Amino acid sequence: MIIVMRADATPQQVQTVSELVLEAGLKPQPIQGTDLVVVAVIGDDRLKDSSKFEQVPGVDRILRVLSPYKMAAVETTAGQRTLVRVGEGESCVFGGANVPVIAGPCSVEGEDKIIEIAQQVKAAGAHALRGGAFKPRTNPYAFQGHGEDGLRMLSAARDATGLPIVTEVLTPADVPLVAKYADCLQIGTRNAQNFKLLEAVGESGKPVLFKRGMAMTIDEYLQAADYILAAGNPNVILCERGIRTFEDHTRNTLPLATVPALKRRSHLPIVVDPSHGTGHAYLVPDMSRAAIAAGCDGLAIECHQDPAHAMTDGAQSITPAVLAELMGSLARVAEAVDRTCLPLINA
Ligand code: PEP
Ligand code: MN
Repeated sequence: MIIVMRADATPQQVQTVSELVLEAGLKPQPIQGTDLVVVAVIGDDRLKDSSKFEQVPGVDRILRVLSPYKMAAVETTAGQRTLVRVGEGESCVFGGANVPVIAGPCSVEGEDKIIEIAQQVKAAGAHALRGGAFKPRTNPYAFQGHGEDGLRMLSAARDATGLPIVTEVLTPADVPLVAKYADCLQIGTRNAQNFKLLEAVGESGKPVLFKRGMAMTIDEYLQAADYILAAGNPNVILCERGIRTFEDHTRNTLPLATVPALKRRSHLPIVVDPSHGTGHAYLVPDMSRAAIAAGCDGLAIECHQDPAHAMTDGAQSITPAVLAELMGSLARVAEAVDRTCLPLINA
C-alpha cells in the first residue's frame, strides 16, 4: 500500500502518517520524489486498512500495488522517476536527462595503472570510475582481486581525478569496508539473489548498482530489488548485463528490450553493461549506442589501457581511445532521443 501525500504536505504531516503506520504494526518508508513524498507501507497485507489513513491531514490518496514487488513498482512513486546521485555534485546522476557513463577496468590491477586509466576515462568524458577489488571468479584459482588494497588504490584514483568510484561487494561482512571507500556498491550478477547481501547493502544507505542475475526474469529481478529498497535504501540503479541463452557468439545475450520493459514497471534508473552483455570489445560501441536509443539511464563499460594484457575480461574491454571516440557518438544518439550524454571533461 502506498500513501501519496499532497504536494503541499508538511514534514510534520508525513511524520504523523508514519507514526500511524507504525501503530498499525507496519513499517513506513517515506520516499522523497522530485515533486512529492509518498509513504510506502511495508508488512502483512492483512493489517493494511486504507480507511485509517484517508482522512489524515496531508494525505492525497492511497494506492494498492498489485505486483509482487512493491517498493520498486512504478506506481509506488506516483509517476515520478527516481534519481540516484553517485558521488558529490551533479555530474553523475542516474535517472534524469543526462546519461552518465561508468568506465574502467574489470579489476583494479595496481595503483599506478588504476590512476592512469582513471585519468584516461575522465579525459574521454566518463562520469565515474569502475574497477573490481573483490572479484567473483568462476575458477577458485583465478585472480580474486586485491581486496582492501584494491579499495585504497581506487580511493587514490578518486583523489587524483575527482571521479566517483563504483566497485563490487561480495559478502554481507564486507559491506562496511567497501562502503567506507566506494561511492557506489556494485552487486554482481552471481549475487543478485543473495538476499542477505541485498539487505546488507540496503542498510548501508550507499547507492547500489544492482546487476540483473544472468538467469533471472525481470519479475524476479524487481522482487530482489525490493530487498534493498525495503531495507531503507532508495538509491538503487538497475543494470542489464546480459543473460544466459543458447546463443554462443556472445558471452551473454544482451536483451535491450529490458530497458523499456523495466521502465514501464519500475521508477528506478536502468544502466546497461554492454561489456559483460556481449563479451567482445568490437560489439561494445554499437550496443552502447543502441542502449541509449532504447532509453537507458547510464552505461557501465569496461575500459583498459592494454586489453591484451588485462588480468580479467580483456576481450570485452575497449581502449581509452575507443571510449573517447564513442563518447562523441553517444552524445549524438542521446540528443536524438531527447537526452544528453555530456562528457565530463573539466570537472
Ligand atoms: C564486473 O562488473 O566485472 C562483473 C563481474 O560483472 P557481472 O557481475 O555482471 O558478471
Ligand atoms: Mn568484468
